[in-house]
Amino acid sequence: MLNADLHSHSTASDGLLPADQVARRAADNGVDMLALTDHDDLGGLPAARAVADEAGMRFVNGVEISIEWGGLQVHILGLSFNADDQTLNAGLAAIRSGRVDRAQRMAAELEKIGIPGCFDGAMRHAENSNLISRSHFARYLVEIGVCKDVRSVFESYIVPGKPGYVSHHWVTLADSVGWILAAGGIAAVAHPGRYKLSKPEIRRLLDEFKSLGGQAIEVVSGSHSAENVTVFARLAREYGFMASRGSDFHGPGESYVDLGKLAPLPQGLTPVWEAF
Ligand code: AMP
Ligand code: MN
Ligand code: MN
Ligand code: MN
Repeated sequence: MLNADLHSHSTASDGLLPADQVARRAADNGVDMLALTDHDDLGGLPAARAVADEAGMRFVNGVEISIEWGGLQVHILGLSFNADDQTLNAGLAAIRSGRVDRAQRMAAELEKIGIPGCFDGAMRHAENSNLISRSHFARYLVEIGVCKDVRSVFESYIVPGKPGYVSHHWVTLADSVGWILAAGGIAAVAHPGRYKLSKPEIRRLLDEFKSLGGQAIEVVSGSHSAENVTVFARLAREYGFMASRGSDFHGPGESYVDLGKLAPLPQGLTPVWEAF
């Protein structure tokens, strides 16, 4: 099977490696086809593509769009689109500016519990100052010794119900899918096993996604358990979705799975890359 890894992050969003190094590492790990899918930003694509071209690795434009669905933050992947598309670029720019406002509100909440300076501190961890994320806050809180690792920061401070978490109005599912389709790409629900949704709610998400023109879901993902893979393989077959496979690599030491080090897709699924 083709070693496709269609979900990865660079310093253009909350990854730890610059885009060229992500592509280099993927090629070294034996990846045959890579998508860089930074959160809400396309800035890493040219550098990653240049390295991929040189290494003889296929490269696919990608993005992971932050949306709000059912009161939760959900991620929609766009794959194999025209990165110059104006609708997509304008939409992503709007999400990024909302992130700055959210980060200021997060920092204000953290200050209330006695941790000042988090906006500037998180910004220092953000290589791309237009793309500030909770990961950068987490790295700053580890840096100043509030927690021992990033995972503990999320658990104790920046997930719903914790003092540094603020709700935020992201864009809608319809916006994200619409922009991806407008740019000639394929939309895929990222790591569907990770959302705190009941079985009927997952079906509602998939129904709505399909009716909007969504065509794929991630089945094999760095953030899926073996059981998640089985469940979403079955749902992909039932809905007629193509299946994607991606590590969700953020960097050495901060990811469950390294680039390309993933199980193959289960039998009986149509790989999303057949549509590229
Ligand atoms: P944001 O888009 O700013 O809300 O940040 C979300 C990002 O935080 C995700 O893409 C992950 O990279 C990271 N993240 C979310 N939950 C966790 C967690 N429990 N542990 C570590 N990283 C997480
Ligand atoms: Mn991330
Ligand atoms: Mn995600
Ligand atoms: Mn991701």
